[in-house]
Amino acid sequence: MKKKVTKLLVPSMAALIALAAAGCGENAEVESSLEKAITERPVIVRFHTDSPSKLRKRLQLAGHDVSGSSKRLGFVDVVSRPDELDSLAARAKGRYESFERLAIPKVDARYTDTQEMSDFVDSVVAAHPDIAARVTLVDASSMFECHELYAVKISDNVSVDENEPAFLFECQLHAREVMTGEVCKDAIDFLTSNYGTDPQVTSWVDNAEIWIIPQANPDGVAYVFSGNDWWRTNRHKSCGCTETCTVCGVDQNRNFEWNWRQCPGYGTSCGDETYSGDSAASEPETQAIKGLMERVRPLYYIDYHSYGEYIVWPSACGRVDEHDLLRIAAELLNHSVETDDGQTGHWTIGNTVDVMYSAPGGSDDHAYGAAGAMAYTIELNSTGFHPDYAQWRDVTVQRQRAAWGLLLDRTINGPSIRGRVLDADTLQ
Ligand SMILES: [Zn+2]
Repeated sequence: MKKKVTKLLVPSMAALIALAAAGCGENAEVESSLEKAITERPVIVRFHTDSPSKLRKRLQLAGHDVSGSSKRLGFVDVVSRPDELDSLAARAKGRYESFERLAIPKVDARYTDTQEMSDFVDSVVAAHPDIAARVTLVDASSMFECHELYAVKISDNVSVDENEPAFLFECQLHAREVMTGEVCKDAIDFLTSNYGTDPQVTSWVDNAEIWIIPQANPDGVAYVFSGNDWWRTNRHKSCGCTETCTVCGVDQNRNFEWNWRQCPGYGTSCGDETYSGDSAASEPETQAIKGLMERVRPLYYIDYHSYGEYIVWPSACGRVDEHDLLRIAAELLNHSVETDDGQTGHWTIGNTVDVMYSAPGGSDDHAYGAAGAMAYTIELNSTGFHPDYAQWRDVTVQRQRAAWGLLLDRTINGPSIRGRVLDADTLQ
């Protein structure tokens, strides 16, 4: 594939601090009006249809919060207030067989919240200091609600940037997708605890620079566990929430720079679940993650989301030159990784627009377009963003070891040009 050479963009820390400073401990008035506005608890409207892709695109482009869909099971889910149900059904009229109203389950406290993830990472780094490091991406003081954004680097000689290929994956860019954080947490645990005893894990850690961002939206994740368990966006509150505004924040997965606002599928006001921000990479989280992507230039990249059992690849504005190349690893993933029914070959795979919808400004597109990665989004689980913990947590994270393990293996052993990608001007 072609590697696009891009100069390293270093975010201005002063700009980040100025942007975020108003968030830490302030904005109580905005918070109060926001809480008032969301007292009427949304429901999920599930449309049963043989053509979920068409209905999903239609509703998403109309601005509805499509939380997930499944081609295999034939449904599209939309988060909606109860009083919006009739108008929503009218908009979908003729495109579904039946619909039902589902309560949004409260998030199970056994899922990992922001503090628990931070403590977990600290314990891993303390136990494995030679191969694991916590790397701050945005200081807590520069976040809107004071939760540090960090990555975990796992590699031998972890304190050194070695000439080894990089692999990057991230979880919980959307806060409410709590299973994704478990996948990253499990990967951190699996790679560090099996190093030195499992030959394959040892080879991965010795020969690759592995980067994992377990909670890419830590302010949002904290809010999922403390205030609103279906929260999706970050916690940027300076865009003027009012009592009629039930959503406030920027969708980090519409805020990345490479194809920001270049096709339909993004929100333009802070009341939109897919609000793309005032400008490309306007958010401190986006700037930091994009900076990491462009610095380490991963060969493979996964952005974990939920739900619907999709494996999709760039771009979310249409097919790219490497479409057929990107399909190869996706086919391997589809035939190696089990879906919730315990089967392989049951993922819905394809270009994002072809099988899901148009959605510019995504992190996978930026990883592909600006950092040259073979980038994938994996939508976990079949029926909801808060799957029953006891039933699904362990089986899901164990199945995903086959997914990230496959791409990690290809990072080292796959048919590709191997090495680090350097900036042509700076050789950094
Ligand atoms: Zn998501």
